[in-house]
Amino acid sequence: MIATTEKIEYGKEVIEFELLQEDRKTLSIEVLPSTRIKVKAPENKNRQDIIKKVQNKAKWITKQKRYFVDNYKKPDEKKYVSGECFRYLGKQYRLKVIKSDIDSIKLKNGYLIVEYNLKTPAKLINKWYKDKAISIFEKELDKCFKQFIAYKIDKPSLKIRKLTKRWGSYNKNSNTITMNIETIKANKNCIDYVIYHELCHCMYFSHNKQFYTLLESKCKDWSKLKNKLEMLIL
Ligand SMILES: [Zn+2]
Repeated sequence: MIATTEKIEYGKEVIEFELLQEDRKTLSIEVLPSTRIKVKAPENKNRQDIIKKVQNKAKWITKQKRYFVDNYKKPDEKKYVSGECFRYLGKQYRLKVIKSDIDSIKLKNGYLIVEYNLKTPAKLINKWYKDKAISIFEKELDKCFKQFIAYKIDKPSLKIRKLTKRWGSYNKNSNTITMNIETIKANKNCIDYVIYHELCHCMYFSHNKQFYTLLESKCKDWSKLKNKLEMLIL
């Protein structure tokens, strides 16, 4: 499989799409609810021909995108009350909030149990997510980075933030990977995919062919994991 990121122009809009060329006979264009555009094409098909076909569908693509922007519902804001569902490492937990004389939080038998006293349940839960994200992302980065040691690059440092439109990013000047704290809600394979993606940016700035070849060699299921993340977050 070959993967690249391509662009077409439609009116004033630049439409970016992911092109996957693989063992198949027909061309397919898909607009996902996140408004990501995925084009699948036969391996031997000429790149310019593919771009032309996508260009011909630009009106339809724009319409689909607009539909999803207007109708795609964001998950409800949390109220931090018993019964609500909270995701952590790919599993769902039901929240149980108990007024207590201590502040504590734990996972037990499918429940996220929050005992609160001085701090609000919201504060406790958000701090818990952050602490878990820091320790788990660090551990996964150590694990994933082992596959990059041969390239003689320095291990990037890690930052955790609430990002609105991406799961992670890489800054070459500071050699830092910034991870979206929300990614802690996905399973470890998805977290690893985000880390591998950002580590590949240590080698290649843009999403070019070499980038995807490297990513595929480190994380074979990256495309599936990316879809999974998209269903879950953003
Ligand atoms: Zn990237």
